[in-house]
Amino acid sequence: MSCTRLCLSVLAVAITICLTMTPAAQAGQPDKVHESDRKPSPRFSFGIVADVQYADKPDRPPRLYRASLERLRDCVTELNRHRLDFTVQLGDLIDGNDGPEKSRQDLERVLGEFARLDARLYHVVGNHCLNAGREALLDKLTLTRPYYDFVPERVSGWRMIVLDGNDAGYGVLGEEQTAWLKETLDKARRRNERVILFNHFALIKKAASRHRMKNPEPIRSIIRQSGCVVAYFAGHDHAGGHAEDGGIQHVTFQGMVESARKNAYAIVDVFDDRIEVRGFGTVPCRTFHLKNLNRRVRQDAPRS
Ligand SMILES: [Zn+2]
Repeated sequence: MSCTRLCLSVLAVAITICLTMTPAAQAGQPDKVHESDRKPSPRFSFGIVADVQYADKPDRPPRLYRASLERLRDCVTELNRHRLDFTVQLGDLIDGNDGPEKSRQDLERVLGEFARLDARLYHVVGNHCLNAGREALLDKLTLTRPYYDFVPERVSGWRMIVLDGNDAGYGVLGEEQTAWLKETLDKARRRNERVILFNHFALIKKAASRHRMKNPEPIRSIIRQSGCVVAYFAGHDHAGGHAEDGGIQHVTFQGMVESARKNAYAIVDVFDDRIEVRGFGTVPCRTFHLKNLNRRVRQDAPRS
């Protein structure tokens, strides 16, 4: 090849490269993605199931005890189709049967269905669950304590708190747990974390018109004063509901056992500015815009 032909070939290749590069790439910068092209993904996502309340006993319409197991099977299959950071079951896995032994057998079957779940499962203790016996229940759920907190793996700036609403009787929080809740929220606030609470029982009537905590105080005032709680998720009142209280979103999820030929569960997507609930069956799809957070809490750290 002559020198001239070689020079022309190199020039042609150089021109082709230049024409195919964007101005940003020519300047040695990565391509800028248009704002409209970028769909933000949630900080984290989780599955949520309330009141499976399975029992191997005759139905008491609208509660279809035996059908609940099949609904749970379908729910686990669907949840496994999504990328979830964890799943929370909001209590009342079983209804209770003739004696603790039969109730424990029901519990085994429910946990057997949940065992297929890919995402890590966190348990909330419900009043009906106690029919299996408190000690046996905690053992089966592998809980050393029925109230606890956790930070989802690979998520920063968010803390989940699980309460035991049966601590000092039906719908009453004991003194020790109340003090622990206050301490845990203080710790979260100091770390600029936002908090989502989970309890079997709703707190306020607007969010659960029929059944809720017998003694909603002191939880209600503690979480309102904390300045870091964005949402409070509950079950127990199978009709479900929603209310906002002091900027906190109170969501009561529909019960699986009582969802009239449909299922009832959800996937929750958590963003910086909102929580999106993707409902299945009787659970409605909703978006809750987060409010009432001080600036320090709003500017949380990116997901690590
Ligand atoms: Zn209940």
